[in-house]
Amino acid sequence: MLSSFDDVAIIGGGVAGLATALALHGLSIKCSVYEMRETNAAPPTSSGALTLSPNSLRILDRFGVYSRIEEISYAFDYVYYKNADEQTIDRYPFGGTSAFGYQALRIYRQDLLDILYTACSERKIPIHFGKRLTEVIDESDNHVAFKFADGTTNTASLLIGSDGIHSKVRDYVASGVEKIFTGLGGLTWELPTKQLRIPEEKDYKFPVIILTTNGGFILAPQKNNGSAMFAGTQIPLEDRDREGWSKFLADKEGLVKLVTKNIEVWPDVAKSGMENINHETMNVWPFYKIPRLPHWTSQKNHRVVILGDAAHAIPPTTGQGASSALEDVMSLALVLSALKKNMGLRWEDALIFWQKMRQDRIDDLLVLTNQLNNKRLPLEKQNLLAKDDLWVDESSTNPSQMAWLYAPKIDEVVNAWAGEAASKAA
Ligand SMILES: Cc1cc2nc3c(=O)[nH]c(=O)nc-3n(C[C@H](O)[C@H](O)[C@H](O)COP(=O)(O)OP(=O)(O)OC[C@H]3O[C@@H](n4cnc5c(N)ncnc54)[C@H](O)[C@@H]3O)c2cc1C
Repeated sequence: MLSSFDDVAIIGGGVAGLATALALHGLSIKCSVYEMRETNAAPPTSSGALTLSPNSLRILDRFGVYSRIEEISYAFDYVYYKNADEQTIDRYPFGGTSAFGYQALRIYRQDLLDILYTACSERKIPIHFGKRLTEVIDESDNHVAFKFADGTTNTASLLIGSDGIHSKVRDYVASGVEKIFTGLGGLTWELPTKQLRIPEEKDYKFPVIILTTNGGFILAPQKNNGSAMFAGTQIPLEDRDREGWSKFLADKEGLVKLVTKNIEVWPDVAKSGMENINHETMNVWPFYKIPRLPHWTSQKNHRVVILGDAAHAIPPTTGQGASSALEDVMSLALVLSALKKNMGLRWEDALIFWQKMRQDRIDDLLVLTNQLNNKRLPLEKQNLLAKDDLWVDESSTNPSQMAWLYAPKIDEVVNAWAGEAASKAA
């Protein structure tokens, strides 16, 4: 059983890993983070901004970092959809103070990592850079041994793999599982907002996704004053290995050609966003998914756990990748807290409960993803779908339509489980 004297090794110092460290510190559980990058600088392939919605902002608030995030982020409530004629055809809520307690925020990934890293440093949580885990060697009933690329080995009472979609820890927890390339990728860049020719009569509100026969073109403000704009589109791509993706990203002229293919289809505002693309800001985001995993913890002694992108890859449609990772972290921390308070609870049962709770939520997100993807189909195809296969905005009459997503009752669910499990154990 875990106690406050036990030590936890966290593999991967991304959003999930650093947040896990903050959560464990809050429970007085000793932990260390091992990150393969040499510094806290994010790799260029994962730069740019990401969106945090109220469900994760509430968690970051609990970790004491919300105000730092809010100060430098772009705040908004809805993403708007426009058709090829630039008529607003739909909107999708991402946040809202009165309905969910927080507006959605767009923050540069590097800024978020810096804020989390600073918070960890202030709490004196050890973060070891240049440590690439190569293997989980073995586990006993009270510790797990693991190895790094530099040849060193280490042990901990619990190993948490927050090492992203290409997770090495997952190889140990669910061996033989291969990530699947969806055949699609996002091609993105940043431009000064003032560069856009925004037609006044079309009533543009941002972020916006413009749907044409080329697919969707996204324009999403960044920086707290919206002075920069994230632009991008999804395109079909072939799978590549890491080196292949690096080469693909390095060929900036090739990327610009891909983006501007069939440029005549896009409305002028999108065309203006494609002028003089700053190569430095160009990015490729290949969309991978991993099959539903049978378990997120090692079966031998349950001393190895995976979370975040390592455990589930959320398609980009709902913008919930980072937010889901943070929900994993918070719910696991609450489960650990319940275990610490009640020694009668079993670690193994707790993990089974935690995984089910999280997997149910991921399943709900996948349903929502499908409903939102269907909204991008031509109207005649949408009309053939069952009502439940389409997402319909009801927020003007039902402001809490998205409360299940943005205001989940994580504490209540964990407390109910802990109470029930404790009374069974007594
Ligand atoms: C371009 C882009 C845009 C995105 N936009 C959004 C968005 O708008 N909203 C949203 O919610 N999500 C978004 N996502 C998804 C989101 O970034 C991820 O879901 C989220 O970062 C998952 O966090 P993570 O910590 O699990 O994984 P990661 O962020 O991938 O972090 C994993 C960390 O582990 C380290 N690592 C990997 N292997 C090892 C190893 N063997 N040993 C040690 N360290 C290792 C990596 O260096 C990295 O630091 C976006 C992703 C990309 C790429």
